Amino acid sequence: MDQVVPQAYLDDMGREVFVGQGIGRDSWGAFRSAGYGGISRHRVCSPMLPMVTTRCEAQRNLDLYARHRKGWKKINTCRIGGCTDRRACPGGCTWAELNLCSRCVDKETL
Ligand SMILES: [Zn+2]
Ligand SMILES: [Zn+2]
Repeated sequence: MDQVVPQAYLDDMGREVFVGQGIGRDSWGAFRSAGYGGISRHRVCSPMLPMVTTRCEAQRNLDLYARHRKGWKKINTCRIGGCTDRRACPGGCTWAELNLCSRCVDKETL
């Protein structure tokens, strides 16, 4: 299986868009955070962003979609856990490296 690095985006309205897990265990899709620091989120509704069975596929769809959107920016995303400034790991984390957070540093060296 090929590796896809988690990448979150900021849309033209300044809201975060990221790959997240749906209600089912095997469903992944693109979500938009409803507010700053909030845990509520909404699915991004687009035919280009269907719910899929793997995180990799969902990320690929989002990358492709983001490329065609005006004003979308990539934001610093942990390459292991996919957390961002707005969505830290449970319990909180800081940046250990540019795209690696303090919680995932240990995981990577295992
Ligand atoms: Zn992390
Ligand atoms: Zn983290």
